[in-house]
Amino acid sequence: MRIDVISLFPEFVAQCAAFGVVGRAGERGLLSLHGWNPRDYAEGNYRRVDDRPFGGGPGMVMLIDPLRASLKAAREADPRPARVVYLSPQGAPLTQAKVRELAGQERLVLLCGRYEGVDERLLAADVDEEISIGDYVLSGGELAAAVIVDAVARLQEGALNDADSAEQDSFEPVDPAGDPARVLLDCPHYTRPVSHELGDVPAVLMSGNHAEIARWRRQQALGRTWQRRPDLLDEASLSNADRALLAA
Ligand code: SAM
Repeated sequence: MRIDVISLFPEFVAQCAAFGVVGRAGERGLLSLHGWNPRDYAEGNYRRVDDRPFGGGPGMVMLIDPLRASLKAAREADPRPARVVYLSPQGAPLTQAKVRELAGQERLVLLCGRYEGVDERLLAADVDEEISIGDYVLSGGELAAAVIVDAVARLQEGALNDADSAEQDSFEPVDPAGDPARVLLDCPHYTRPVSHELGDVPAVLMSGNHAEIARWRRQQALGRTWQRRPDLLDEASLSNADRALLAA
């Protein structure tokens, strides 16, 4: 998968992608990341990328042309069609389902705003969708772009070693059909030592009984989701087995 980042600070996103699973995805050739700085496409001695908003008011707005030229350069760097995403607090909330959808694209272009944002006309003409990473305002889209790069990179086939397996992760559908109503939080995890002054590992995890362990994990995942994110649990869609586990 190829991701192009259009940003006044593309190195920032590249740095975030240099470590751990995401860095490994790059080394394994599963993800290639490319940065484009609109300042390189700006004209004049000052290479201006922003200007005052029409109608007055505080802040600056990113100019259309340097962004458009960056986008054109990014598109031309690879013949495959690219989905263009503008990171914005006004966008659709990022979810694991959306991450999976993006991870399936061959190419993504992530457009990062700064200041008051980007001239609206560019968004209307060149952007396929707007995505928000939460109901708060960042000073720029780079952190949001790094979040998408990370979440998408770890889903590339071969990026995760078995130890990092995404199978049981929170928000992952538990069945391959991907029924979103069954999305749960992950179960708790334990490792050595078995006994510690902070407590013992639940005995079932050392029983060797895989069916019991799976049942316990499912019960924990259901219970946690119920307590912490009841909005994720659509009771009506729970199987009878899940209902029994939740009630136990
Ligand atoms: N005036 C804009 C508004 O209120 O909608 C906020 C602009 S913000 C200071 C500057 C840039 O940060 C935005 O153009 C966007 O790219 C990015 N940004 C800020 N918050 C974000 C969020 N929650 N999710 C994704 N991107 C965000």
